[in-house]
Amino acid sequence: SKAQLFEKGTRVNITFNDVAGLDEAKVEVMEIVDFLKNPKKYTSLGGKIPKGALLVGPPGTGKTLLAKAMAGEAQVPFFSMSGSDFVELFVGVGASRVRDLFKQAREKAPCIVFIDEIDAIGRARGKNMVMSNDERENTLNQMLVEMDGFGGDSGIIVLAATNRPDVLDSALLRPGRFDRQISIDIPDVKGREKIFEVHLKPIKRSKDLNIRKLAIQTPGFAGADIANICNEAALIAARKGKSEVDMSDFNDAIDRVIGGLEKKNKIIL
Ligand code: ATP
Repeated sequence: SKAQLFEKGTRVNITFNDVAGLDEAKVEVMEIVDFLKNPKKYTSLGGKIPKGALLVGPPGTGKTLLAKAMAGEAQVPFFSMSGSDFVELFVGVGASRVRDLFKQAREKAPCIVFIDEIDAIGRARGKNMVMSNDERENTLNQMLVEMDGFGGDSGIIVLAATNRPDVLDSALLRPGRFDRQISIDIPDVKGREKIFEVHLKPIKRSKDLNIRKLAIQTPGFAGADIANICNEAALIAARKGKSEVDMSDFNDAIDRVIGGLEKKNKIIL
């Protein structure tokens, strides 16, 4: 079947409130949100609005979430695709999908286009293991053509996520393309506390639950892992027939998620 390779201009209701921590990144993306909302304010003095920004950080730290929240805050449609979806395509298909994506984005502008795992298509020449080089280059070239083809006043902001900025083709990072980098880091203990707060909201929890302790017990965890822990804890408590989730359920959930992470790492090694 012809899988749909991108999310088409969906309206999102995620806002910055759903994104915990990442305070510095939020300040930077708020500026981009303001470009989308009030373009004239910026172009009136002859300035050019940036077309793209690179969100750089490890997996599960909220890059996709932040990009969606930007669309939610600016109240513009959200288009997305993932570089890794392009890996197994037949020759020519990648480039034509990119063309389609930007065609639709232009029709719906102002909007946000999000490209996850851009390194899968945007690696510098000769450094790609997964996709045939010709096809990857076609796809990448089409992306560059599209980005050069619209002006900063088009109302399209292209965000791309990667955890490997070092492997990207330098053509992508030139002015007028992804010339801004926003770094999204693994949360510190305070950040983890805030992420727990967000993901504990829907959970019926006992009064003994100590969020600070949970944050201290989870060094190195990304937001995605914390979301996973909260969900697991609720399921563990429910399985035991409890009416609320308590600290012991969270401890079990943390052990389970740590176990899962260790397994994943073993497979990679
Ligand atoms: P990947 O590089 O693997 O695509 P990502 O950085 O795009 O990861 P997201 O997909 O945004 O990560 O995060 C996955 C989920 O983890 C989010 O939908 C959210 O539930 C949770 N999450 C991650 N970071 C945060 C955060 N800072 N605040 C709240 N929730 C978070």
